[in-house]
Amino acid sequence: MSYVIPPAAPAAVPVAGGGEFPVHRIYCVGRNYADHAVEMGFTGREPPFFFMKPADAIVAVPEGTTGSIDYPSLTANLHHEIELVVAIGKGGRNIAAADAASHIWGYAVGLDMTRRDLQNEMKKQGRPWCIGKAFEQSAPIGTLVPLAQTGELLQGAITLAVNGQVKQRGDLRELIWSVNETIEQLSAAWALQPGDLIFTGTPAGVGAVVRGDVMQGAIAGLGTLKVAVA
Ligand code: MN
Repeated sequence: MSYVIPPAAPAAVPVAGGGEFPVHRIYCVGRNYADHAVEMGFTGREPPFFFMKPADAIVAVPEGTTGSIDYPSLTANLHHEIELVVAIGKGGRNIAAADAASHIWGYAVGLDMTRRDLQNEMKKQGRPWCIGKAFEQSAPIGTLVPLAQTGELLQGAITLAVNGQVKQRGDLRELIWSVNETIEQLSAAWALQPGDLIFTGTPAGVGAVVRGDVMQGAIAGLGTLKVAVA
């Protein structure tokens, strides 16, 4: 292959025990915890819906380190959304929920950073969310832990603190659409590929961060994700 410009390096996430997981696509589930759906002005139960971020929105933050994101342009309301991230190791179309776990390579703690003011404006106008969701450094993610090590993650605390003060607190068992159901629905719409990541939604308590804040997310069994806003 003779590229006419240098190709970008593939986005990658560090793996517990060594190695890197190369990222193909990033799918995100909207409003997947009832209490968060309510805080966003919805009734709490609706069919799942999806949006995407570009793979190079990843900011990889190895366990035990503090990552950094730059405060993005055009917004005055940058929100944190702490989420369980599922990494797909085996692709497929029309994967049944009952078979979904065999397609999961592992899990990580992730942040779906959101320019809420821009997202809200796009919602109001019935336009795509890209500008609110799919910007550079909008997907900080911690070390990926293999499912072989964690087992299926079906429950456990998911929390986010800003400057040491807890803002979001939920439990994975509160997901409206479980990870397995999400994989079934996603794979009906897109052919899932090895390397795909799925951000599975955030519990209530989303809010703004400003320059100088430090976010610390945690999911039971996975460790922590620490990110500063520069
Ligand atoms: Mn989200």
